[in-house]
Amino acid sequence: MDKAALFHISYGLYVVTSTKGDKQNGFIGNTVFQITSKPARMAIGVSVDNYTHEFIEESQAFAVSILNQDVDTEVIKTFGYKTGKEIDKFAEIEWKKGETGAPLICKDINATFECKVIESVHFDSHTIFVGEVVSGEVIDSNIPVLTYEYYRNVLKGKAPKNAPTYTEGSTPTAPNNEPKYVCGVCGYEYDPTVGDPEHGVPAGTKFEDLPADWLCPLCGSPKAVFDLKG
Ligand code: FE
Repeated sequence: MDKAALFHISYGLYVVTSTKGDKQNGFIGNTVFQITSKPARMAIGVSVDNYTHEFIEESQAFAVSILNQDVDTEVIKTFGYKTGKEIDKFAEIEWKKGETGAPLICKDINATFECKVIESVHFDSHTIFVGEVVSGEVIDSNIPVLTYEYYRNVLKGKAPKNAPTYTEGSTPTAPNNEPKYVCGVCGYEYDPTVGDPEHGVPAGTKFEDLPADWLCPLCGSPKAVFDLKG
């Protein structure tokens, strides 16, 4: 089976959140889809290893915040590559509590909605939670939504390891012949012809010449976890 065939399925990227007692947590998910419209029912796929999984099981509710292309990579970094067991993912971002108690992200979001779980289907590594939509709000529809393709091709990211679309060792390929260094944690590809201008690294800076304290702009890992791509 050519796994590359699966990369041609289109997906969006979402912050899927839930609550448990007075805590909230969330992760970057791509498996979010509508099943019916009357009533509106949605399904999400969640890894059983994901900390948010136990929040959804406990509260029987979840919320989805639909990311747009302006998303700050800090949001991807925090929700996609860190665990809520160690940090409060909501400490640095704008959010509000929804009517189910699940947190809703307020910035770089096109729309949000909340669901009450009506069915859970368990597979070995993932659960599909089906929910009835209980609230929804359009925040900003002027900026295109963030698709998985845009994330892979423009932001140069790959799936966090709990995502169903994660593939061991797969990284996107840059379109020129310069040597490329790839983050061993998130798959971000450093391109010397582009540099990292957002963090003060001008275009044309070789990987070797990056400051020692430079961090992967996508997941925050140090230079040491980067490998030269063959
Ligand atoms: Fe990284």
